[in-house]
This record gives sequence, structure tokens and C-alpha cells, in this order.
Amino acid sequence: MIEIRQLHKHYETAQGRVEVLKGIDLDVQSGTITAVVGPSGAGKSTLSHCISLLEKPSSGQILVEGKDLSVLSGKELCAERRAIGTIFQNSALLRRMTVAENVALPLRNLGVVHHEMENRVAELLNRVGLADWANSYPGELSGGQRQRVGIARALALRPRLLLSDEATSGLDPESTTQVLELLDSLRTDLGLAIILITHEMDVVRHIADRVAQLDGGRIAEYGELRGLVADPGSVTGSKLLPLRPDLVPAGYDFTLTVAYQAANVDPAWISRLGTEHGARVALLGGSVEAHHEGTLGRVEIGLAGIAAEQAIAVLAGWGLRATPRSQQLLSSVADRAERIEVAV
Ligand code: ADP
Repeated sequence: MIEIRQLHKHYETAQGRVEVLKGIDLDVQSGTITAVVGPSGAGKSTLSHCISLLEKPSSGQILVEGKDLSVLSGKELCAERRAIGTIFQNSALLRRMTVAENVALPLRNLGVVHHEMENRVAELLNRVGLADWANSYPGELSGGQRQRVGIARALALRPRLLLSDEATSGLDPESTTQVLELLDSLRTDLGLAIILITHEMDVVRHIADRVAQLDGGRIAEYGELRGLVADPGSVTGSKLLPLRPDLVPAGYDFTLTVAYQAANVDPAWISRLGTEHGARVALLGGSVEAHHEGTLGRVEIGLAGIAAEQAIAVLAGWGLRATPRSQQLLSSVADRAERIEVAV
């Protein structure tokens, strides 16, 4: 488990002190993936450099399995840094070395004996699905394969935390999927804690367990992916699964945003609203995706023939959290109700 406590980082510049990280708290349990997202200039790279101990934090702690690595220096830092493996956007492989030699580098630097090193490299290449490419050179590989070699190298010293700093940026969709599937299996099979620093919301949605939104050097939002997506007030949630700004379609009474709160929602819930509750349902937009913990989704529907409160209660019983689209729409429902009353 990795605990980051009140991490601060500032730089002294000619213009004075620049506070870049202003008290970051983050816990990443073993076997889970936490994504750190945020706009350009939010402090993501600085946080990444502090976590990988390339830069010393100005204050605060980085605890790996309870041990504070932020206070170490020299030999001790070198030894403890092994607990953290890092992969970057550019896999940074040495072009004149084969794939196997690249993966072996951290082991060689540590003075691991030859046959042990060979066995470990073979095991690592097997793990990342590149056993047949051991004697190839980085230039002969696709971007996704190079990135997987980078992951094998990062795993060489058996880290507890894998830090992925924009590792899928610039990869084509197929390579991105390969890298994400690999990270997914590392989380499960090796019980690694993984921190994913990225600006790609698709990546976050597919793989993260928790999401921290960094803004101006602070964590603006932090929570379970499913919880953020289900929370209509969450800015991060709406970036993860954006919805169209829409109005109630003609012939329908109101619209609901419906988020998958339970992991095992019946996929036929829309038709069940009709068959079991006599509602008319219009599908207006949304996204439903497979996630390793079950389906993740947020869908926008228009409804008629059912009261809003009843629809919300029925959906809650099926593991779905429904929220009226906005106050404006709520008041338009109220308006209509008033008009109906007047007409009666
Ligand atoms: P991000 O990766 O989210 O785009 P960065 O961590 O690169 O953000 O930068 C956050 C802020 O910190 C920026 O305003 C940047 O100018 C400032 N910054 C980063 N490194 C330094 C440095 N070495 N000296 C001064 N300011 C820096």
C-alpha cells in the first residue's frame, strides 16, 4: 500500500517561490489502480516526479508499506526506490540493445548473477507477452510493444508500486488496449498498487478503481470511479462519461440521468420500465461499458407514463441511481403538473 501524506512541492524562481503541489493526500491499496487526472499545469508531472523520487518533495511523506521514502537519500534511497517502478510516455528503451538486454538493465545494475538474470528476463518477457521478441531491437517493435518492454523493465526489481506517467499517450487504440489489459492483469496477478497519471479519460474509465482530479496543485475531487460517475454533481464524473445537454423530447414528461450503481445491473432494465411499470422510455444518450468490477454506465432517458418519484424508486431497486437532469427540468415538470391541475 502506498500512502502520500500532505505532499508539498515548491520551486524557487527568479520571480519568487512557485507552489506547485499544495498538500496532496492519496492512498493506493495493493491490487488497485488510482488515476490522477487534471488539466495542463495542474501539477501531474511534478507529482509523478515526486512519487518516483526523481525530485524531493518540499515537505510531506511518501510511505510504501509504511516506510517513508521521501526522507531518504544516497544508498538507502537507491535501495528503497526499487519499490517503485515507473513507465513513461516514451518507453525510453536503449536502441542499440535488444529487448532482453533492455529488460535486464536494472538487474545488471544491481549485480544479479547471469543465469538468474536470464531466467528473470525470460519470465518478465513472458509476463508481458513478448517472449518471442527477446532478441529484437526496439526499432523493430510497435509503440505498444515498446511500452510493454518498458513495463517488463519496470517490473524487473519487483516493485510494490507501478507509476504510469502518460504511458498510453500517443499510442494507437489497439496498442492502448494491449497496455491497459497488461496493467489490469498486473493489478490482479501481482497485487501491484498502480498510479496512472493521464489526461485520457477513456483510459481512466476502462481501468481505474479510484480517480483523483488534480487542479492547481490540489486534489479537487477524489473517489471511487463508480461513485464519481453516479454523482450528478461530480465534475470528474461528467468528464468521464459526458452527456449531451438535452431538453425533454416532445411527447415525454421528464428526463433522468441513470447511473449504474450496482455491479450487476440487469441489462434489460430499460424494457422492464415499459413491461413492468407501463412507462414509455426514450433513450437519449449515454455510455455503458465493461469494467473489471462489472458494468459501468450512465444513460440519459426521457420518460412518460410514470411519475418521476416512482421511476427513481424502481430504478434504485435495480441498482440504478436516477437523477432528474437539472433544476430547470424539474421546474418544467412542476410547471407542467401545475398546468395539468389547472386544466383539470
Ligand atoms: P502538468 O503535468 O499537470 O501539466 P506540471 O507539474 O508540469 O503540470 O506543472 C505544474 C506547474 O508547476 C506549472 O505551472 C509549471 O510552470 C510549474 N513548474 C513545474 N516545474 C517547475 C520548475 N522546475 N520550476 C518552476 N515552476 C515549475
